[in-house]
Amino acid sequence: MARDYLKKADKTAETGASDVRDTVQEILANIEAGGDAAALEYAAKFDNYDGPVLLSEEDIAAACAKVSQKLKDDIAFAYENVRRFAETQKSTMKDVELEVRPGLIAGQKAIPVNTAGCYVPGGRYSHIASAIMTVTTASVAGCKNITVCSPPRPNEGIAPAIIYAAQLCGATRILSMGGVQGVAAMTFGLFGLPKADILVGPGNQFVAEAKRILFGRVGIDMIAGPTDSLILADETADPFIVATDLVSQAEHGYNSPVWLVTDSRKLAHKVMDLVPGLIEDLPELNRDNAFAAWRDYAEVIVCDDREEMAATSDDYAPEHLTVQAADIDWWLDRLTCYGSLFLGEETTVSFGDKASGTNHVLPTSGAAKYTGGLSVHKYMKIVTWQRSTREGAKDVAIATARISRLEGMEGHARSADVRLQKYFPEQNFD
Ligand code: NAD
Repeated sequence: MARDYLKKADKTAETGASDVRDTVQEILANIEAGGDAAALEYAAKFDNYDGPVLLSEEDIAAACAKVSQKLKDDIAFAYENVRRFAETQKSTMKDVELEVRPGLIAGQKAIPVNTAGCYVPGGRYSHIASAIMTVTTASVAGCKNITVCSPPRPNEGIAPAIIYAAQLCGATRILSMGGVQGVAAMTFGLFGLPKADILVGPGNQFVAEAKRILFGRVGIDMIAGPTDSLILADETADPFIVATDLVSQAEHGYNSPVWLVTDSRKLAHKVMDLVPGLIEDLPELNRDNAFAAWRDYAEVIVCDDREEMAATSDDYAPEHLTVQAADIDWWLDRLTCYGSLFLGEETTVSFGDKASGTNHVLPTSGAAKYTGGLSVHKYMKIVTWQRSTREGAKDVAIATARISRLEGMEGHARSADVRLQKYFPEQNFD
């Protein structure tokens, strides 16, 4: 393989730095010991907020009234697409039943967790779409309790559009609290919340570390690092669209890697020429993020052919993967590691991020090698059951007793023996 790096990253995305781990551990311990009061202290400290925490119906109605009808329509459009896609995903989860041996029946059921805790980030941007993505999937999965927690703006509370989206998509409780204190409130059941069975949703390094530490006591969707994106483009791609898409993903954060992988040196140079001007043209906050992400984390890699491009992409296992190249079906068939794939110029990661129906909570930092993103499946437990006739129990009891005695587990053997003796008193099974 001859990957030629026209631009190489100086830094790589990191999560779980030990200083963050220590800070988060301490906050969690203090909140577990101090309860609601301790959580409120951290809310005041980190978010400068001392307003209502658990929103009442009146608070929610007042927030919804502040959202324009146009934005409500757009949120409804995105919700509808995400819900319909989630419903189709759920329809693939069939309960199954098998007669393993005559009279011995085993089955599988998919059961939703009772309580989902959805973290909707809100520090840097107002992530309306994260409310739609996390709450809708939990609701379609069938979770009874769906709590949303999101950081309040200083002295203001959660952005009204996030509150509107959360209630539209099926949130049963909304907590105006962010960061570690929000995650802790959902996990420990503070402010009268039901304790979460699973925590889902993206967040910054403090949120991700809190989920990592709490995993085991509570389920999690995944540990999300900074968002990352890779574009595979050949000579047929439009350099302006490729450059615009790279910049659109670099604006996520100063440490959000974007990668261009191509077999066209000409395209690579055109894109690299275009990117700085597009970044310069962004509003200030977005510009600062995109500038730092492009400077420190971006890569441009020239490969010999499309097979090498695909192998490179699979090595990176990006969260978002875009193909702007000829023969789309070849890429769909060949690529194996990505969180979500965007095929052709007519779609883009921004569509998936906001409104096209697929989920935007996706595996980062190479986790797409072993997992996909958030879907109804993450809220479902696949459990098994069995039952048997007396005749059906005979062979399995004989085998169970023998295996158990060889293992030295006499108690297990006897639970098989008593059934054989009860159901078949005339027979000798020694
Ligand atoms: P956030 O809501 O994740 O974090 C804000 C909270 O961080 C605050 O409420 C505060 O309590 C806490 N905090 C800030 N500084 C702290 C400190 N020094 N110590 C302890 N706690 C502290 O919002 P954010 O910071 O804007 O981050 C959002 C993240 O979500 C970004 O990394 C973004 O890329 C990611 N995101 C990912 C996806 C995805 O699907 N992968 C989607 C949307 C957002």
